[in-house]
Amino acid sequence: MKWPRLRVAISACLLGERVRFDGGHRRDDFVLGLLDRYVEWIPVCPEVEVGMGIPREPVILVGDPKSPRLIGRRSGQDWTDRMEQWAAVRLEELSTLDLDGFILKKGSPSCGLFRVPVYTESGTPRWTGPGLFARALIRRFPLLPIEEEGRLRDPILRERFIAALFTYRRWRDWQKSAPGPEGFIRFHTTHKLFLMARSPACLQHLGRLTAAAGQRWPAILQDYEAWLAKAMREPLSRGRAANALYHALGFLKQALPDKERQELVEHLRAYQEGRVPLIVPLTLFRHHIQKTSVPEWLRQQVLWQPYPEELVWQSPL
Ligand code: SF4
Repeated sequence: MKWPRLRVAISACLLGERVRFDGGHRRDDFVLGLLDRYVEWIPVCPEVEVGMGIPREPVILVGDPKSPRLIGRRSGQDWTDRMEQWAAVRLEELSTLDLDGFILKKGSPSCGLFRVPVYTESGTPRWTGPGLFARALIRRFPLLPIEEEGRLRDPILRERFIAALFTYRRWRDWQKSAPGPEGFIRFHTTHKLFLMARSPACLQHLGRLTAAAGQRWPAILQDYEAWLAKAMREPLSRGRAANALYHALGFLKQALPDKERQELVEHLRAYQEGRVPLIVPLTLFRHHIQKTSVPEWLRQQVLWQPYPEELVWQSPL
């Protein structure tokens, strides 16, 4: 399968650029080794780009956790307004680049996505939300797949992020290549089992939106995209994935001889009971779907290969 080259923005220090306050970097060989083959990186360093320089005084978040200030740790210099103004302009620039996702440096008062400490005036840290740039990023691109580098070491979170990156890309690709209700319905149809494996509730809602496409075109697309992003925030679960595969089996089993059907059921049961990973029944399904006469919609399901499998190695699912 030929995979698209994704365009992913990243905190520049994770790429090995010497942009940290002390002139160092935080190159992340795990993330780069994993994704380099599939990604064109767009480096962003909010603190350097806003004009703080290298080396520079470290900054921290201070004050109200809901709207903290970005303050020089020793000097007390307040960078908040400059950072917010710069971020607004930079995010508009990034919106023209068709990003597929963003990977942020954890813990940074500018880039961190979760649990960045916000200090009280007396210097007590409270672990709260995102850094100042990350906050603006989420607000500007609420549906973009965004993750912290450290969390990508967790196989379940990694699978969820990879799935979201490739799904978001497919979503935008059909709009470029086949805009219009027909392309939209094709997108939904090919994603049915994939969505069933992540969130049956979202699939149901997305199905209702698709059925109403004729009356609400093109306004429907905004709702659909929001619900698609909601579905992609759900991690894959063994129970839901098995359910989607049993659903597919219902359409496939008439076409298979007894022995092969039995083998498929046994592999599916082994997956459901946690004895083998998802790749085992998926490979067998792919094999049968290629050589058996099955409905075209089943053959074209994204579930059979939603992303390059090497990106989710070690997945416990
Ligand atoms: S964490 Fe963000 S602001 Fe800090 S050095 Fe890295 S890219 Fe720059």
